[in-house]
Amino acid sequence: QLGLVLVNAPRVRLRPEIEGMQPYRQGKAAAEDAFKLSSNENPFEPIPAVLEAIASSSVNRYPDGSAIALRTALADHYALTPENVHVGAGSASILSQLITAAAGPGDEVVYSWRSFEAYPGFVAVAGATSVQVPNTADHRHNLDAMADAVTDRTRVVIVCSPNNPTGSVVTADEFTAFMAQIPETVLVLLDEAYIEFVTDDTAVRGPQLLAHYPNLVVLRTFSKAYGLAGLRVGYALGAEYVLDAARATTIPLSVIEPAQRAAIVSIEHQAELLERVAGLSVLRDTIWAALVEQGWDVPKPHGNFVWLPTGDITAWAADVFSDNGIVVRALGTDGVRISIGEHESVEKLLKASEEVVRKLR
Ligand code: PMP
Repeated sequence: QLGLVLVNAPRVRLRPEIEGMQPYRQGKAAAEDAFKLSSNENPFEPIPAVLEAIASSSVNRYPDGSAIALRTALADHYALTPENVHVGAGSASILSQLITAAAGPGDEVVYSWRSFEAYPGFVAVAGATSVQVPNTADHRHNLDAMADAVTDRTRVVIVCSPNNPTGSVVTADEFTAFMAQIPETVLVLLDEAYIEFVTDDTAVRGPQLLAHYPNLVVLRTFSKAYGLAGLRVGYALGAEYVLDAARATTIPLSVIEPAQRAAIVSIEHQAELLERVAGLSVLRDTIWAALVEQGWDVPKPHGNFVWLPTGDITAWAADVFSDNGIVVRALGTDGVRISIGEHESVEKLLKASEEVVRKLR
């Protein structure tokens, strides 16, 4: 078969900032006998009620584009109105919509780095400019530096708590002090994709702050704690007019009916599902304690993953994990991120981490 290669054809003009972009890099697929701990997925299969909701969804019809049943269920859960809730095909979609709604060419979007790998791409697609503020030496957001980075051109600030990939949380007090420094005309996105794994009472929890900060939008997802990553469904909570702007940028009907229905059933069965989450959080803390015991200087993790700052030997470290049957996410020359998965993966994980830490000592 011949690919489409027209040697001397003139090239169409693409936006240079898009043409230079790399597509989002997904966590590697795992070999049959390896544990895939590279995408912060939930290791549990859906509960029967969720499978039933998926199986009984209609797919020859389009979904309800307004997702009103799901928005109503979420609104009831958070004591809001459905207008204050927006759902999207993953919270990633909503992040992109909100950034596009608020920031365009000449505008700036401030966020910490490292943080979620997709942020730079969303900002570039909007045509805006990323302003990345380095994390502190102990892998946390540098909130004062982030507030200092806000200029007249800033339209959006993103706070990620727990932060992917470093696992740190912003405390409620830190967040309040931070918000006091941010102009009310700047949209603040609080990305809480991993909030259900947080057991620290001092950590910020966005929904209860919405009444205090009209410029705050909180993003959450069914992908992580609720184990619906493959169905793509997330949501945002915030002011109606801001969410309306996000809704206006949405590709119509992209949240499919099986996803909407599975999400509603997940809310109904949240006690059962959050028990699983509690188990994963306990396992995370056990793994963290074992890593510290091995001599790792790693930040206390609050999501469903641990961060190993392996620096220059990151690529080698990822290979060591891979040789031990563990697929991790290697991030540049900063570190590897390892999801909390099956209990059976822990022994291999700790064997590999022991080998890596010996090299670092
Ligand atoms: N925010 C953060 C911090 C994430 O790590 C992720 C997923 N890796 C997302 C948002 C997007 O998740 P989803 O689109 O599956 O809701």
